[in-house]
Amino acid sequence: MSENPFSYVEKDLNREASDSSLNSQEKEILEATNAAMTKPNPSLEYCTMSVEETLYKLGTDGKIGLASAEDAQKRRQYYGANEITVEDDESLVKKFLSNFVEDRLILLLMGSALLSVFLGNIDDAVSITMAIVIVVTVGFVQEYRSEKSLEALNKLVPQECHLIRGGQESHVLATNLVPGDLVHFKIGDRIPADLRIIECVDLTIDESNLTGETEPVHKSPKAISRESFNDQPNSIVPVAERTNIAYMGTLVKEGNGRGIVVGTGRETSFGTVFEMMSNIEKPKTPLQLTMDKLGKDLSLSSFVVIGLICLLGIIQGRSWLEMFQISVSLAVAAIPEGLPIIVTVTLALGVLRMAKRKAIVRRLPSVETLGSVNFICSDKTGTLTSNHMTVSKIWCLGSMANKLNVLSLDKNNNANLKNYLTEDVRNTLLCSNLCNNASYSQEHVKFLGNPTDVALLEQLPKFGLSDVRNQYTKLKELSFNSKRKMMATKIQDNEKKVTLFVKGAFEKLLEKSVSYVTDKGKVEKLTKQQKDTIIETANTLASDGLRVLAFAKKPMIDTSSKLVEDDISELTFTGLIGMNDPPRPSVKFAIEQFLQGGIHVIMITGDSENTAVNIARQIGIPVIDPKLSVLTGDKLNEMSDDQLANVIGHVTVFARATPEHKLNIVRALRKRGDVVAMTGDGVNDAPALKLADIGVSMGRMGTDVAKEASDMILTDDDFSTILTAIEEGKGIFNNIQNFLSFQLSTSIAALSLVALSTAFMLPNPLNAMQILWINILMDGPPAQSLGVEPVDHEVMKKPPRKRSDKILTPELLKRLLGTATCIILGTVYVFVKEMAEDGQVTARDTTMTFTCFVFFDMFNALACRHTTKSIFEIGFFTNKMFNLAVGLSLLGQMCAIYIPFFQSIFKTESLSVGDLLFLTLISSSVFIIDELRKYWIKRNSYKDPLRYSIV
Ligand code: ATP
Repeated sequence: MSENPFSYVEKDLNREASDSSLNSQEKEILEATNAAMTKPNPSLEYCTMSVEETLYKLGTDGKIGLASAEDAQKRRQYYGANEITVEDDESLVKKFLSNFVEDRLILLLMGSALLSVFLGNIDDAVSITMAIVIVVTVGFVQEYRSEKSLEALNKLVPQECHLIRGGQESHVLATNLVPGDLVHFKIGDRIPADLRIIECVDLTIDESNLTGETEPVHKSPKAISRESFNDQPNSIVPVAERTNIAYMGTLVKEGNGRGIVVGTGRETSFGTVFEMMSNIEKPKTPLQLTMDKLGKDLSLSSFVVIGLICLLGIIQGRSWLEMFQISVSLAVAAIPEGLPIIVTVTLALGVLRMAKRKAIVRRLPSVETLGSVNFICSDKTGTLTSNHMTVSKIWCLGSMANKLNVLSLDKNNNANLKNYLTEDVRNTLLCSNLCNNASYSQEHVKFLGNPTDVALLEQLPKFGLSDVRNQYTKLKELSFNSKRKMMATKIQDNEKKVTLFVKGAFEKLLEKSVSYVTDKGKVEKLTKQQKDTIIETANTLASDGLRVLAFAKKPMIDTSSKLVEDDISELTFTGLIGMNDPPRPSVKFAIEQFLQGGIHVIMITGDSENTAVNIARQIGIPVIDPKLSVLTGDKLNEMSDDQLANVIGHVTVFARATPEHKLNIVRALRKRGDVVAMTGDGVNDAPALKLADIGVSMGRMGTDVAKEASDMILTDDDFSTILTAIEEGKGIFNNIQNFLSFQLSTSIAALSLVALSTAFMLPNPLNAMQILWINILMDGPPAQSLGVEPVDHEVMKKPPRKRSDKILTPELLKRLLGTATCIILGTVYVFVKEMAEDGQVTARDTTMTFTCFVFFDMFNALACRHTTKSIFEIGFFTNKMFNLAVGLSLLGQMCAIYIPFFQSIFKTESLSVGDLLFLTLISSSVFIIDELRKYWIKRNSYKDPLRYSIV
């Protein structure tokens, strides 16, 4: 629902539509996909053309893209935006009118109005018709709001891409692309439009969300010959065989490349599938399904009760038309047809509210799961820490070994630092410069790129040095990845001398080092003792919470651009650099809140054990005994899932871990029955994000692949946003329970009231019109406003909800039955008292009863704003929507009593101020009793906090 169009078909498309295990909706999706696959579109036309033909036909250039912005603008006007939207051809009026005929109960009501006309009861007919119009309008407005808020959810994650126009590369929204545009893409990206690939390196693309093929497909720019597909219908090259096309919505698994946009929006393969599926209703969330079921169960029981009432009434000799009208109105009122819609609107509005607080929930059911999360596994760098690195310490064996001191950049001023430029320090700094991928941005006047690399370049001026990369030639690079934990560059200087520069995790580098650079620049053999000194120093730096990198180099004879993993051997160690990456300020508080609420927090990092433990302690993750609380990647490699599941309860830090380890961690936790939220940002994190109950990806640092696999995106990459999200998730769930309690108690009260009076042979206390008005209050604005009750921050003190817990808990049931009883007793009392005064049922009697019920309902709504907290604690004015809704409902009620036109519709008459005060007094009982219940819970929560939770 809230996901982007691409996850629409996140089904197991490998299965055949005839597979009997598929439900009818899955079959429909498969059939639509299969049909869409054979429809011709631009990707079919261009896959058989050569790169040159493609460029020529689209009037573009393979190096600079479209020449001018004007050209792009013209194309945009012609082709439209690169969006897949489904146009709704049905007009609002038509939709509104269709609501009259689609609901059988409304049809019945219309029938009864018509009958009244024939029987000469014009008044009744007008009243019922008015009521129908109001009921349908309220329902329509709600449905419209629900649609609009769901539409808004789809726009929460706009896609971006790298566009090259007029030779300039820029980062733009994918909607701006037009056919002919040149696009650059790399590992982790989602393809923004249908592209004819014109060049690529090691490119594989995951097309499973389009073709169902789970293996990533190798791509190349080579044209495809149509002749090879003569056996296909109309010689169509199947979608999966168009290996020079990168399809919109698919994900780059490996490598990189450039492509020319050939199809945008509906003209893409995905657009075709999407269009064909637009008529298929989206799958519902478990909560919506539960609500649907609850609605159906309630409808059935209501029908039985109403049937009995009707039968009894007719046997008693009451007017059958009156009985029929009452029964149908009761059915309209008692059946909570608005329930699923209010749930959807509440979820959708909640998700939009979360988005404003920087957490984008991609799938509506996740809102429900958020409240059950009891383990949060988080990356360290950039999520728990600020990812703002500064070089803080440098240490080299040659110049500092004997003194065991470290060059502190924090304590020395820049003029001073130049005095420390011994040859080993100089070599370390040169390595940090040449083994580096950050680039200088004229526009931002600073270095951009990986924060580790940026920090290394930013320190050079402190030593009076500058970036010298333009004086050397980079022959080849082995890029950094979290498994290798190293990066290497093969560099050639002006004299054609080739050197390998390596930087990375100190353990990894030391394994490969055989010598070191002295302070005078000589290379000497590295002894075992010296290696120990290096490790000791690295550990000391790490214990201060610094991220430690080691640097090394080696001369190379081979001048080709070949570089393999085996070349990283026999290195000469130059030095260590320690970087500071302080924790985010808000993280400590968030972790405190989680721990208080029974949620465990685990740090998973590629950094060393000592760094991880120091940071964990700084932010309040408990590391009681590092032997039990810390597990390193090496140890993890030797453990089975079961062994890990046995010990994971004590572990709070995983150090030197890789993204692959995350999968083991999620599996072990899920095995124990825990509900896990896992963060991640890289391509390799995707499987763990998918497996976790709540996969959390990073909006800024995250790849499209990780975002695609996740359930929630943190737009600020900040761990503490998860707290906001869980808080909101729990709040939304509480709100749903609150309006459920309100709706059900009203519904039960209305039904029982009429049932009781019929059973006791009393005249009907409420007429059909009045019942319909009560229905509007119950299904309409007051209920809806309970759904937007602001979050009570104390929800975090409540332990996570069990996955198996029902929405209608026994406490909730008890509470709503108590409330309903109170409303029934109060209303019956007023009705009988009024009737007894003159011995017959007058308009005044029903007006009193009707108003009494409505007042009861409003007090009930007030009581339902919080399950356990008094209104005096949460405040009368904290939910403006609620006050507005109740205010308007009361105003409506006054109109119904005092305005002659409405008096004739509702069959009411004016009441005195004294009457209103009397009714207020009686109906406030429901609120007072609930306040007393809340007081009782609060008192007991002090004595027995485990049993009586006040949140
Ligand atoms: P997290 O998983 O919390 O993001 P991390 O970012 O510290 O942790 P990695 O990126 O896997 O984990 O880094 C692990 C180690 O690899 C670091 O401690 C550092 O020594 C080294 N390292 C990090 N970035 C680079 C880089 N760009 N080049 C070379 N080595 C690096």
